[in-house]
Amino acid sequence: MTSEPDHVAGEPLVVLEDVNKHFGELHVLQNINLTINRGEVVVVIGPSGSGKSTLCRAINRLETIDDGRITVDGKDLPAEGKALAKLRADVGMVFQSFNLFAHKTILDNVTLGPIKVRKQKPAAARERAMELLRRVGIDSQASKLPAQLSGGQQQRVAIARALAMDPKVILFDEPTSALDPEMVNEVLDVMVDLAKGGMTMVVVTHEMGFARKAANRVVFMADGQIVEESDPESFFTNPKSSRAKDFLGKIL
Ligand code: ADP
Ligand code: MG
Repeated sequence: MTSEPDHVAGEPLVVLEDVNKHFGELHVLQNINLTINRGEVVVVIGPSGSGKSTLCRAINRLETIDDGRITVDGKDLPAEGKALAKLRADVGMVFQSFNLFAHKTILDNVTLGPIKVRKQKPAAARERAMELLRRVGIDSQASKLPAQLSGGQQQRVAIARALAMDPKVILFDEPTSALDPEMVNEVLDVMVDLAKGGMTMVVVTHEMGFARKAANRVVFMADGQIVEESDPESFFTNPKSSRAKDFLGKIL
């Protein structure tokens, strides 16, 4: 056994046990078992349609599951109300399409959740938001609207917005797929920093450079199943399954 950084030895934070999900006839999550430990960075990779987004959405309860169990920090996912809002604050999500509030300033985008859900005082929320915007290099744009920023800048705002909730884990669903190539690295750099800082992260991405730099584990999905799990180096240099070999042959 190779030794791993201390934070990887954290206790289980997100646990999926025998999770199944159908969309009509389509069995989109098939008996998924996956544990994400505190401080761990797990990259989820796999062909389009394999269930990666549904997996993320299920952890955030944007999708319900048919059977099985998902717990975050030892608790079952709440179905509704304040408890669900609290779960969504604990489990941050960054989407491919940024999903910022178009009619609110960058600063308001970041302070809204902390004020409404975390009940922070507006002044304190603004101070913290500016600190986070500084951390992702966008503080000078705080009074602009999202459309006035580049895609890479908007995605960094989305990351700051997730961080402002003090989440236990952040799910990233193809956070750089909608970006022009020259903006991919400015977003990945922020994510690598977060990973190094010990943030628990689930990242759906095909960015091998990010996986190699930041991931503790790569999970390969195909047709609703977890086909293979390993450390990034072994996965990219020596995938075990023929489906992973096929897939890597296409993207690399
Ligand atoms: P991935 O993120 O790996 O590309 P998804 O989780 O988005 O895969 O989708 C898995 C499968 O489920 C795909 O075949 C997709 O078309 C289907 N699917 C996703 N969301 C829905 C939905 N709301 N209703 C019906 N089918 C869906
Ligand atoms: Mg997807």
